[in-house]
Amino acid sequence: MALAYIGLGGNIGDTKQLIKDAIMCFAQRRELKVLTRSCMYQSAPIGCDGQDFINAVISLETELTPHQLLTVCQQVENDFGRERPFLNAPRTLDLDLLAYDQVILDDEQLQVPHPRMVERAFVLLPLLEIEPNLSLPRFGKLADYLPHLQNQRIEKIKGCCCPSKV
Ligand code: ADP
Ligand code: MG
Repeated sequence: MALAYIGLGGNIGDTKQLIKDAIMCFAQRRELKVLTRSCMYQSAPIGCDGQDFINAVISLETELTPHQLLTVCQQVENDFGRERPFLNAPRTLDLDLLAYDQVILDDEQLQVPHPRMVERAFVLLPLLEIEPNLSLPRFGKLADYLPHLQNQRIEKIKGCCCPSKV
């Protein structure tokens, strides 16, 4: 059984509700078990215009391979009406496979651990909330990257009762 982390985010529509619904979609799948979800965080868009983003991270256990898990993420994105008109376009729901055990993958479809995760406070803060000591290949201890991200505007959304077991 592998332990994987998925980042969820978006900046169109009622993203808080979309993230909750997407987590329910994962939780209903037989081929994986959602373990924990982080709080939700609101942050300024990076590399694009538009509304603030809302992000969260979940951990899950699965027998799926990393590529199969990516396919599940893409199916859920499509179920929520994700379109990709251009790079970094505003998005209803973006699901990224952040890490899959200590696996390293680098092919056309999938890079794991996600190469840009340590540059993004909206990934690291929720991820470290559910796994404070996480260390990954290529990066080492993730908490070490936080001091470099202090210029990114981000706040935890209050009152969402998390982190919580799912
Ligand atoms: P981004 O999340 O970088 O803003 P997209 O969600 O549109 O952009 O993803 C673009 C491509 O990234 C997808 O076609 C997918 O195959 C690829 N990709 C590579 N590594 C990952 C990963 N770890 N998680 C999700 N997608 C990935
Ligand atoms: Mg993505």
